[in-house]
Amino acid sequence: MSVFLQNVLSTLKRGVALGGFPEGLYKLLSKPERVVAVSIPVRMDSGGLEVFEGFRVQHCSALGPYKGGIRFHPDVTLEDDIALATLMTLKNSLAGLPYGGGKGAVRVDPRKLSARELEQLARGYVRALYPVLGELVDIPAPDVGTDSRVMAWMVDEYSKLLGRNAPASFTAKPAVLWGNPVREYATGFGCAVVTREAAERLLGGSKGLTLAVQGFGNTGQWHAYWASKMGFKVVAISDLSGTVYDPDGIDVEKAMKVKSETGKVVNYPGGEKLSDPKAALYVDADVVAPDAVENQITLENVGKVKAKLVVEGANGPTTPEAELELAKRGAVVVPDFLANAGGVVMSYLEWVQNLQWYWWSEEETRAKLERIMRDNFERVWAKFEEMRRSSREVVMRDAALVIALQRIYDAMKARGWL
Ligand code: NAD
Repeated sequence: MSVFLQNVLSTLKRGVALGGFPEGLYKLLSKPERVVAVSIPVRMDSGGLEVFEGFRVQHCSALGPYKGGIRFHPDVTLEDDIALATLMTLKNSLAGLPYGGGKGAVRVDPRKLSARELEQLARGYVRALYPVLGELVDIPAPDVGTDSRVMAWMVDEYSKLLGRNAPASFTAKPAVLWGNPVREYATGFGCAVVTREAAERLLGGSKGLTLAVQGFGNTGQWHAYWASKMGFKVVAISDLSGTVYDPDGIDVEKAMKVKSETGKVVNYPGGEKLSDPKAALYVDADVVAPDAVENQITLENVGKVKAKLVVEGANGPTTPEAELELAKRGAVVVPDFLANAGGVVMSYLEWVQNLQWYWWSEEETRAKLERIMRDNFERVWAKFEEMRRSSREVVMRDAALVIALQRIYDAMKARGWL
């Protein structure tokens, strides 16, 4: 079994024990409800034929239709796809959405395909999986290696097969094709809302507090942008080119422009330049946001992290041992599946609009997203406080896990599955 799947299963097991749930919950969640493996033939530009391997894992439907991204990547495996689908079940439940978890994958390096080949692959994936997809069955979204353009091809192919337009069958589509402009910044915006809520509870406010962001991609840029709009002073940003540090504050909009024009944050005019991309995690700041990739705060470097609050924009940036170390010194880590749920919550809002054929303005959509993120944070914080009263070892991730499992358990019990 892959290490990733083993880790996800041990997280599940720990959550079931922590929340005092019956063993049956673990048994049901440790196996996906349905796994479909498909072969997708594509006529290449060269005239030759390639057959790509694809999967769709439908992990759990206790709370509603399956929902999760489709990944195009050369290293995908079925076991990792199962692990990712399991995490989606937990994330959707925690976010309070009427969805179960799913995840899809195609083993391919999309950078090696022409636009025509990529389109054929996207359409072929939908044709192969058509019987198990649909707006009330399984609603995919983009993931690594796929984007709104791929979703546009997929929703078009699905609509053709169905014989009518079916906008709610895929989410994160282009705005012109039933998407919503908030999607572009939804994850970073959600991170900023959660950062503000956490700072208010832990640090007594947010105005003028300093924030350092590691990773200046889609998540990190919009996290920094919206946090600065909410009153935080962004003092460090980084990408693979290095770190920019300015205790007087970075002009985030200017930095975004520099990043999009030159591809490197270190071309930002001003501040001190540090060669280590991880240096953003170590600077003097009230809050740090690891928004880049996994395994960034580990037992080796946790001693250098000075912030009292860590908000995980990326998936899995803090190892469990490092998180416990941070907890020992009174720091709090807002876990990834709470902090970066803005994207999937926005997918839900897009789906609701699509089902109703009724559109909200950007401001209205953003306000709904903000409310859901705030409510989710409050629920987890309240549970965290409650659990902390009985054990000092508890971290916020434990509270989030128990809340996510509780909703699934309640739904399964009501259905008579347990
Ligand atoms: P992205 O590719 O747009 O950006 C990643 C950024 O991190 C790039 O600027 C890259 O240069 C930088 N980076 C990579 N390694 C680094 C390092 N060691 N130190 C500093 N910077 C580094 O990716 P993204 O979409 O922003 O995703 C980032 C993380 O957020 C991932 O873990 C992803 O799974 C998670 N996430 C993203 C979304 C979303 O909607 N974009 C949703 C949920 C979770």
